[in-house]
Amino acid sequence: LDNKSMFHSRVHIEAGDLVIAYMSRDNLSAVIITPGEEIHNKFGRYSHNDLIGQKFGTKILYLPDISYITMRLGVRVGGKVIEAGTGSGSMTHSLSRTVGKSGQVCSFEYHEPRFEKALEEFKSHGLNNVRLQHRNVCKDGFGDATGVEAVFLDLPAPWEAIPHAMKTLRPDIITKICCFSPCLEQVLKTVSTLRSEGFADIFTQEVLIRTHELVTQTDPDHLGSVSSIVNRLKAHEKRKVERRAVQMKMARDKARKQKEAEAGAPNMDQSEPGSKRKLDADGTANDVQTQDVAEENIEDQDNNDATWIDPETQLDKIVITKPTAEMKGHTSYLTFASYYPESIRNALASQDNGKSAMA
Ligand code: SAM
Repeated sequence: LDNKSMFHSRVHIEAGDLVIAYMSRDNLSAVIITPGEEIHNKFGRYSHNDLIGQKFGTKILYLPDISYITMRLGVRVGGKVIEAGTGSGSMTHSLSRTVGKSGQVCSFEYHEPRFEKALEEFKSHGLNNVRLQHRNVCKDGFGDATGVEAVFLDLPAPWEAIPHAMKTLRPDIITKICCFSPCLEQVLKTVSTLRSEGFADIFTQEVLIRTHELVTQTDPDHLGSVSSIVNRLKAHEKRKVERRAVQMKMARDKARKQKEAEAGAPNMDQSEPGSKRKLDADGTANDVQTQDVAEENIEDQDNNDATWIDPETQLDKIVITKPTAEMKGHTSYLTFASYYPESIRNALASQDNGKSAMA
């Protein structure tokens, strides 16, 4: 909290406030709320504008289910979506953002205090594309809502609302429904109702959150054939010999230069037998000895080469994702289905007839 809020305790976030964005226990960041800016992290992009007006302590990072549901329902900019019940309104916020100004979210909540709170919140957050109604959708249906492309039911008894939801669907396109239920008994009832109401493509999914770690390891599948490994080792050996030859030549050149310099030096010490500075009459012994010294040095370098790794001969490394043993979830089962209106069913049937006539 900034000074203002320390001395005048405020409930809602304002521009210029210092807020702590809490992603997890070890992932926190301090952010000054600046209109037009965004918090960008691995969970997504969060506009500062969306935080203004929110209560301090508000949870703004949504469960992965929301994005999955939105994607599977094919919710689009300009689309019309039904959501029941509204609850905390977190899904409503997300749907509202997805359909945008040109779309509409029809949200229904029968619990009056929850409805009032959501109404106030949506107003203060400027969710002008949300039409919130206080209504029991299982008993009274969805009112005058029509032209709906997608329906999301997060209710204890979605099967009671499905027949009402059908009346709201667009008759000219394939529409979608998703029912969010925590237990399989509810799923079974939902699936039977969807079937009896004529829905197709019915499937249920469980969204489990599982984190993955990135690990680098030798890839056993990338070792290649025995002959490819032999070839790589041969290539490595060849490069080693070539390098050694170059080093030898350089050492010899250096020794020769040193010998020439010593030959021309006035106080050369010729008294020490075996000294590398000694110059024999024909110079041969000195040459051999100097070369020995040079070779010793090279030998040392080759021994050091044990730690040298040729990038071409080291085994392939791969980065793999390793799922953590712990499986987080489950939030609920998601049952999806599509409704093909009569016009589309007829069009598909005539296409099929055309194909079989051609065959
Ligand atoms: N999707 C919501 C969210 O994002 O926070 C959570 C919904 S919560 C699990 C279920 C809500 O549905 C509750 O607020 C409950 O009052 C409301 N509800 C239950 N049955 C209903 C009905 N027949 N008509 C309208 N709302 C209903």
